[in-house]
Amino acid sequence: MRLNQDLHIHTTWSTGDASVVPEQTVDLVARVGHARIVGISDHFEHVAEVWDAYAQEVREAELRLGTEVNGAAWVETALGVKPDYYIYHCFDTDADYRGLERLLASDRPVIVAHPNALDTDLDRVPPEAYVELNNRYVWRCDWLEFYGPYRDRFSFVLSSDAHRPNWLGQSVARRAAEELEVGEILVWPMT
Ligand SMILES: [Zn+2]
Ligand SMILES: [Zn+2]
Repeated sequence: MRLNQDLHIHTTWSTGDASVVPEQTVDLVARVGHARIVGISDHFEHVAEVWDAYAQEVREAELRLGTEVNGAAWVETALGVKPDYYIYHCFDTDADYRGLERLLASDRPVIVAHPNALDTDLDRVPPEAYVELNNRYVWRCDWLEFYGPYRDRFSFVLSSDAHRPNWLGQSVARRAAEELEVGEILVWPMT
């Protein structure tokens, strides 16, 4: 069965990420078509200098164009490119919460990546941000305890955070969403 949406996917454009395998190309992800809405979100620090080529390849594959921004240090540069959405590493520092506010002010959708893996304090995350239930990391916490208090505050999205083709799934994240009784929010309407 096809998933509805998966906006957190890495490909070979994430050149500095050793978990990405050479077969994990934009083309292969597009061909697998595991979700109706697929977005590529390679690490911004790996694509910043080759942004146009990256953006072109993702667009030509007719996928959504995203990028994963590693905290406040990258926000300024990331605001200078035009993705469809941002995925954001919000570490638990004042600077990183300010960085999040700045990304949100761009009016592009911002998804707070795997907060339980970064000790993000969800009390400090504005409700306009989407919060991710991330298949790669959600099981590293007691999800009822970590996410439960926020079930009405945020719009939740489910992500694979795939770095290789066989990670293109969301089984654990979906189980967590079910137990949390949160619905999956689609960032754009399904076409
Ligand atoms: Zn991440
Ligand atoms: Zn990622």
